[in-house]
Amino acid sequence: MGLFKVKNIISFISMAPSFLKSILRKVPFYVNYDLTWQCNLKCKHCYFFSSTTELNSKRKELSNEEWIKIFKYHKKLGTKIAILTGGEPTLRTDLIKEAIKIFSSVQVVSNGVMKLPRFKGQKQPKYWVSLDGTKETHDKIRCAKVFDKVLKNIREFHPVVTSAIMTLNYKEIEDIAKIAHDNGASGLVFQLYTGYPHDPLILKGEMLREAIKSILKVMSKYGNFIFYSKKMLELYLSKEFVPHCVFKVGQIKSFYPDGRQKFCVMGNSPLLCENCGCVVPIAAYALFRNFDSGTVDKARKLFNFPK
Ligand code: SF4
Ligand code: SF4
Repeated sequence: MGLFKVKNIISFISMAPSFLKSILRKVPFYVNYDLTWQCNLKCKHCYFFSSTTELNSKRKELSNEEWIKIFKYHKKLGTKIAILTGGEPTLRTDLIKEAIKIFSSVQVVSNGVMKLPRFKGQKQPKYWVSLDGTKETHDKIRCAKVFDKVLKNIREFHPVVTSAIMTLNYKEIEDIAKIAHDNGASGLVFQLYTGYPHDPLILKGEMLREAIKSILKVMSKYGNFIFYSKKMLELYLSKEFVPHCVFKVGQIKSFYPDGRQKFCVMGNSPLLCENCGCVVPIAAYALFRNFDSGTVDKARKLFNFPK
């Protein structure tokens, strides 16, 4: 398994000393903020809206000032990285601008429909943009004709492309990799669809086997452009990471737009864990617990970890 090899540990330590400091000081290294309930899409697979229905929320949204107070509090604790999600976080561009002033690194996960904001005279956030397949499949999943707009943003901003793989698009993994690569994305991250038990979008049996085969194929074709390692695939299948998930142990915290802490970025229920394909706890387990050098190499290329 290559567990605890000296080479792996050295490689891990050299990647991100700040990670180690944050673990030792028990400070969340990342904090994920859902900035807004608003979204300009209504996608078929939206985990965000399914988790908010479950909450029966009154949809209060924190003001800029209230969010800034929280950002500063976490920054003071020692948090280095803010991950801004939603809804669609670019609908609160002013707040992205404020987060950039506060955190060492800001990552914004967008559906890529609106032109991604650039901030004059400031460092830029790292954008993650979703792509679900070829034009036809992407637009079908997103329930809107938005593929061309997403592609334009990928060409102009070179974001990391993120792709949720489910029963609707698992046959297009190679297409997704080619589109992302040929249009200038800086990397591609697969998220194997996470859902409640019996959700028809979850990959199982032959469909899952086919998806894994295609992921392995694109990993070998595109190398470190694909942020998924063999160890991560192993962990996704075994679910060994679940009891140690970084959200459960507090290394990453996640908040709804009204400031309430939620169970994890995927939603607000432990029922999701059984079918979790979220890349964050999988990668973290491969890095922190397994010191897997294959994952370290990919993480180093894709993320600019702050010192
Ligand atoms: S873009 Fe994201 S938040 Fe908006 S509906 Fe689609 S999956 Fe949900
Ligand atoms: S669903 Fe996944 S990310 Fe969320 S707590 Fe469970 S294992 Fe962690």
